[in-house]
Amino acid sequence: MYNEKVLAHFKDPHNVGEMENPDGYAEVGSSECGDTMAMYLRVQDGKITDIKYKTYGCCAAIASSSIATDMVKGRTIQEAEALTKADIVEELGGLPGQKVHCSLMVEDAIKAAIADYKSKI
Ligand SMILES: [Zn+2]
Repeated sequence: MYNEKVLAHFKDPHNVGEMENPDGYAEVGSSECGDTMAMYLRVQDGKITDIKYKTYGCCAAIASSSIATDMVKGRTIQEAEALTKADIVEELGGLPGQKVHCSLMVEDAIKAAIADYKSKI
């Protein structure tokens, strides 16, 4: 059902954890398969210098979180805001159609954490 790249990120996900006093924080959920996640951002000079997350989700949600956080780490806020679920799915080499919504949750979480950061500056 999942390709090798997805399974590799699922087995050894990157950037997992929590952050003390994050610059941006959001919690989102996906009702369809009960996935939830918390996203933490560290921002310096308009760049995302660190990103952590905790997710209670399916394989697709975990793999999407891992690769998406790799993709936005070190990028500017504008670049991170432009990331879409299509970019995440493409970077993963594809997800089963009924699992694409799990990558949308990750896109939503990054955008919501950025919105939280912007509301504080
Ligand atoms: Zn899911």
